[in-house]
Amino acid sequence: MTVESGTARTMRMRAVPGARLATLPQVQRLDPAVRRDIRVVSSVLPFKVNNYVLDELIDWDRAPDDPLYRLTFPDRGMLPQPVFDEIAALIDRDAGREELRAAVNQARLSLNPHPGDQLQANVPQGENGALNGLQHKYRETVLVFPGQGQTCHAYCGYCFRWAQFIGVAELKQAVSGPEQALGYLSGHPEVSDVLFTGGDPMIMSTERLRAYVTPLLEPRFEHIRNIRFGTKALSYWPYRFTTDDDADELLRLLERATSLGRHVAVMAHFSHYNELETEACREAIRRIRDTGAVIRAQAPLVRHVNDDPAVWARMWRTMTNLGVVPYYMFVERDTGASQYFELPLRRAVSVYRDAISAVSGLERTARGPVMSASPGKVVLDGTARIAGQDVFCCRFLQARDPDWVGRPFFAKLDEHAVWFDDLKPAFDEPWFWQAEG
Ligand SMILES: *Cc1c(COP(=O)(O)O)cnc(C)c1O
Ligand code: SF4
Repeated sequence: MTVESGTARTMRMRAVPGARLATLPQVQRLDPAVRRDIRVVSSVLPFKVNNYVLDELIDWDRAPDDPLYRLTFPDRGMLPQPVFDEIAALIDRDAGREELRAAVNQARLSLNPHPGDQLQANVPQGENGALNGLQHKYRETVLVFPGQGQTCHAYCGYCFRWAQFIGVAELKQAVSGPEQALGYLSGHPEVSDVLFTGGDPMIMSTERLRAYVTPLLEPRFEHIRNIRFGTKALSYWPYRFTTDDDADELLRLLERATSLGRHVAVMAHFSHYNELETEACREAIRRIRDTGAVIRAQAPLVRHVNDDPAVWARMWRTMTNLGVVPYYMFVERDTGASQYFELPLRRAVSVYRDAISAVSGLERTARGPVMSASPGKVVLDGTARIAGQDVFCCRFLQARDPDWVGRPFFAKLDEHAVWFDDLKPAFDEPWFWQAEG
């Protein structure tokens, strides 16, 4: 097919950083206490919205309870009470810049800015040392973090990369161009999947993206069967695929990859069905699908946004109707504002079960709840009572060692556990993968 050129009027993006949120006219209409909370919290954690999020996604008649407001705007519950009180006191008495900065830095360090060992543990080694900007944890898949793609069109309050957005964690994991990634991939025929991630790679110009993608279409990269893009652009800036200046070029690039026999997967991040309702999003979905690319959808389960089986059930129905394939329901990571968004794992299991049992078989393609933990991606299949013990039934969907995949194992059912590290083996210590070798 040929890509139809966009007919609609071009939308220009106006980004609004955290420091300006409290001055927005929409926010001026909210309770003054809410505005103060926004000031305090946005001085510690990164926030960013844009005109699409403000005008088309958030339902201001329902704010602050609107799910897209909750996803993108600060709330006082995102900071531990003592931290909130300290920063609020400084702001209220107009403390000096240095004093405020020191307190803010202290606050950021208390919010687990470097969760897990995900950053350095999975960076492959090249001839000249660590290949920063690549991650190779599971045999088949290499993650590529393009340097120009390390931001997003708007920010999620639960973002696990928040510390990088404000320079607390160094932006070490980014490649400056395609050469390193291509060099590594050409020497690794076992790799079938390349996942461009960020931030959001769709924040890059098509020209930049093309430099990464086009070489992968050459015969020497025939082992790369699947090219994936992790993105929230369908939610935060669908015009990337419709009326942006290089939108048509982007679709041609995807089409070229599919026509040369690659599976192209747009790994879309959708947190709530409202993100799928706008005309811009639907048009973007249609255009991507017309290239032969498949859109697969994933998101974490979080309080205040989607902690309701009915939200997931409706989201999965809508997706299937639009030709988007539900892929993963994640458990939110233990960093930043996690205390505001987190849910007990036990609750995550029941939300997933209630949601999946409410939809048709075709709509049941999302696996979850899944934790990207250090040994691998762990799915909680449910709870059970075995040999007199209440347990979580667990399984690796992906693991550092492919031999661990698919083996059932059991963790003690802990009502308060919110992350994998909170879990203990139910029967035999240690975990089976720690007992080997
Ligand atoms: C999730 C993930 C992948 C992709 O896993 P799939 O199950 O193939 O989608 C690859 N690498 C890392 C580090 C991941 O966390
Ligand atoms: S889209 Fe992903 S990387 Fe971007 S702010 Fe949201 S969670 Fe973070």
